[in-house]
Amino acid sequence: MPKEAQNTFEQNMEAMSKMSPEQVQDKIKELNKICICRNCPTYVGTGENKLTFCAIGKSTIIKIDRGCLCPGCPVQKAMALRWDRYCLKGSGVEQSRMS
Ligand code: SF4
Ligand code: SF4
Repeated sequence: MPKEAQNTFEQNMEAMSKMSPEQVQDKIKELNKICICRNCPTYVGTGENKLTFCAIGKSTIIKIDRGCLCPGCPVQKAMALRWDRYCLKGSGVEQSRMS
């Protein structure tokens, strides 16, 4: 993880873009285990069961912002993500294009 943290988010995405679809799915499964959305007040009680919105993009279920735990998430650090509220605002790639 510290090795990845030295790269920018965009460099990490560049590396991921070279992976096969299966490798990307495996990576997301790995990140799902670390994702802390399941403890987030914006997530709890919504019925959402997806995770890792920083990779998969907005939730179709979550609509109300009750705070965000992403800044303290190990995935945020490992991937050098710089944003928050991925479930509401879109994936890291999407927010990277907006900023
Ligand atoms: S940064 Fe946010 S959306 Fe991404 S894995 Fe962590 S808690 Fe989940
Ligand atoms: S992306 Fe951020 S706001 Fe959305 S559920 Fe995860 S921690 Fe909460």
